Amino acid sequence: MALRELDRAGLNVLCLEARDYIGGRILTLHDPLSPIPLELGAEFIHGRPPELWNFIRDANLGVYDCGDRAVHIKDGKVQSDTDAWVPVDRVMSDMQEAAERLPDQPFSVFLENSSHSEEAKRLSANFVEGFNAARKEIVGIHSLAQDTKASDEIDGDRSFRFIGGYDSLAHALINGVSDPASKLRLNSVVQTISWSSGSVTVRVRSSITGRKDTVHCRRVLITVPLGVLQAEPDESGAIRFDPEPKEVLAAARRLEFGQVFRVVLRFQEPFWEKNPDLADAGFLFSDEPLFPTWWTPLPRRVPILTGWSAGPHADALQGRSRQEVVRAATASLAKIVGIGNDALNRLLVSAHFHDWHADPFARGAYSYVPACALPAREILARPVENTLYFAGEAIDLHGHSATVHGAIASALEAASLIGNA
Ligand SMILES: Cc1cc2nc3c(=O)[nH]c(=O)nc-3n(C[C@H](O)[C@H](O)[C@H](O)COP(=O)(O)OP(=O)(O)OC[C@H]3O[C@@H](n4cnc5c(N)ncnc54)[C@H](O)[C@@H]3O)c2cc1C
Repeated sequence: MALRELDRAGLNVLCLEARDYIGGRILTLHDPLSPIPLELGAEFIHGRPPELWNFIRDANLGVYDCGDRAVHIKDGKVQSDTDAWVPVDRVMSDMQEAAERLPDQPFSVFLENSSHSEEAKRLSANFVEGFNAARKEIVGIHSLAQDTKASDEIDGDRSFRFIGGYDSLAHALINGVSDPASKLRLNSVVQTISWSSGSVTVRVRSSITGRKDTVHCRRVLITVPLGVLQAEPDESGAIRFDPEPKEVLAAARRLEFGQVFRVVLRFQEPFWEKNPDLADAGFLFSDEPLFPTWWTPLPRRVPILTGWSAGPHADALQGRSRQEVVRAATASLAKIVGIGNDALNRLLVSAHFHDWHADPFARGAYSYVPACALPAREILARPVENTLYFAGEAIDLHGHSATVHGAIASALEAASLIGNA
């Protein structure tokens, strides 16, 4: 989005991308044997964020509304008739009020001091940790309240998917750039940014040939994930700054980068639909330690389930092989839907997974804000000597971080700052 905006503003712009594809944490697999595109990164459009919907309309991209009925389930049996979102919504709206009155504090402290039932506390802790890829002992209520308010303002309890896959967004964006072949270089790993006010030298290594190259410019917009910004300069994928923008890097380290393991399983048939309790469920919540959350592709009735392990649940999966992660996911799912492991594995056709934590150009899933760390984001969003600019989901200041639309909003703001500099 930043490349497109800067190009359209008539600036001489070049985008250096380490991967061999565009989209970053948007990663869609187009498996000809699958009835729908398989998302290994972002999947949902959360609500109706204008910066995304305006573009969707202009580019004429197809999207559809998702089913979001949630059940809390154990051994194939739904635990309560109430939609599992209801107690969570109550706790979250209480938290919003508390955030206005109280100093920032970890979500776990807010829960301990609240009078909600133990069940409501457990469900909402699971929700906060799962959705934000966060730890309840770290994530602050001020940022959670800001996010909840921002989400309410854009109909955030509704979600949508791209018919053609999330990557149709990335491709439509790049189609809006004039002569993209000369303005976007793939397989180009930025290694060093040497700078002084109004003058930047970027050292780049080709991930194909290993050849090193140098690019000179007046300003640079850095949109790497927070995990890459937090990495030590000699770690794979990291960028060495010379000199270091110390305040910015210190601010980046005050924020947290959450972990997610997400596994997409394709089956011979949507076997869960035979259970009347599950036939119309969008989301399945459970107390399984490794993969507690699953969702179906409703309203599409196709044999695909996505398993989600985030925050503390994901700890035990780090460093495990692909096979081990998939085995952990199928074992959790077998218990949740109440069919034997062997029966489930006989129905399984394929399993898909991308290890975002081990990926040197991501180093995790998405950002969250510890208690008392909200000002760190503002420091990241501030240009350094009109020369270094930062953008990306972690830098969105309006409660939409950790999302695609937050990343897009942040890119639009940075592009406008550069255009007006
Ligand atoms: C599993 C998962 C599920 C998600 N689900 C959703 C969802 O349903 N809905 C939603 O809105 N959001 C979701 N998100 C979050 C969303 O994907 C991100 O917030 C968003 O895509 C971030 O965009 P970005 O431009 O900030 O960063 P990125 O998309 O990560 O882009 C940063 C780019 O920098 C490149 N880069 C890194 N290091 C270097 C280097 N040294 N040199 C050159 N290039 C480099 C990377 O390759 C990458 O392309 C999900 C994320 C994950 C991981």
